[in-house]
Amino acid sequence: MKSKILRLLKESDGYLSGQQICDYFQVSRTAIWKVIEQLKKEGYQIEAVRNKGYHLTESPDVISRAEIESMSKGRWAGGHVVFYEETDSTNNRAKDAGEKGEAHGTLFVADRQTSGKGRRGRGWESPAGMSVYMTILLRPDIQPVKAPQMTLLMAVAVVEGIHKVTGLCCGIKWPNDIVCRGKKICGILTEMSSEMTYINYVVIGAGINVNQETFPQEIEDRATSLRMELGCNIRRAELIAAVMESFEECYETFLKTEDLSGLKERYNALLVNKDQDVKILEPGNEYYAHASGINEKGELIIRTEDGEEKTVYAGEVSVRGVYGYV
Ligand code: ATP
Repeated sequence: MKSKILRLLKESDGYLSGQQICDYFQVSRTAIWKVIEQLKKEGYQIEAVRNKGYHLTESPDVISRAEIESMSKGRWAGGHVVFYEETDSTNNRAKDAGEKGEAHGTLFVADRQTSGKGRRGRGWESPAGMSVYMTILLRPDIQPVKAPQMTLLMAVAVVEGIHKVTGLCCGIKWPNDIVCRGKKICGILTEMSSEMTYINYVVIGAGINVNQETFPQEIEDRATSLRMELGCNIRRAELIAAVMESFEECYETFLKTEDLSGLKERYNALLVNKDQDVKILEPGNEYYAHASGINEKGELIIRTEDGEEKTVYAGEVSVRGVYGYV
């Protein structure tokens, strides 16, 4: 009810009468009053005027379940939110819930992660109060071998969500890092539970640097945040909703062909490695090549220095610029 009241307040451009809300939910005025008081405690500025009703004058940058759900525009992606003030990793929470039968599309969000995860056992710096850590739980009816392609859907959705909310144009470093001026602003991690022929669930997590002003020394040369790029704070719940809206659409396009043919152009237009010289890092092997974009399987098409054209698959491979991270 809290999420819905918040949504009603946001959608109403004037006053929303207590009676209107009571009729809508079929509950008493006291019950409504209690929810309004809770919202005020969380930092929402709500005016209550006799004979007129309630009017929301300001929303804080909170990321609670109610705030995120009240902003959600999609039909299924992120409409149901499980929120944690603090957890080890939202991917872990989504995987646990996946085991217990939680529904497709549920979004797990935390204000702080104590063991944020990157790819291949690396960590993700996850301070409280300033970033987005979210993981969506999915139950696609596709072959397990195709699941890694879904990472690229989230990459497109994050770039589009950031652009929609802030106007900032970020790019994608293949396969799944979001970068701005050569620095990383978001990392994405996909994990899966499957049998040989079917998927139990897939979780896709995104850590977006939103309102940080500094980073720890070890990563400060290659990390940035929206605040550092734009010079102002961004509302995290609005960003989460925009990313989910775009993700839902990308996912539905992906499912039509069960590959990236419907999204390849969109992805390649955002790819910072496109038509660039890159360094390919494979376990025990490093070489230079020219990258031309992804194919419909999400593999990076490259031409090696001896002229051979081939594709590389994200699993074991990382890509760098010739002179630096991008
Ligand atoms: P790859 O190209 O293989 O993805 P990567 O270095 O980008 O390599 P990821 O696993 O995607 O690796 O991300 C984890 C790495 O990102 C960490 O090892 C660290 O260097 C960096 N990192 C950790 N936290 C943050 C953060 N909040 N913002 C930006 N970068 C971070």
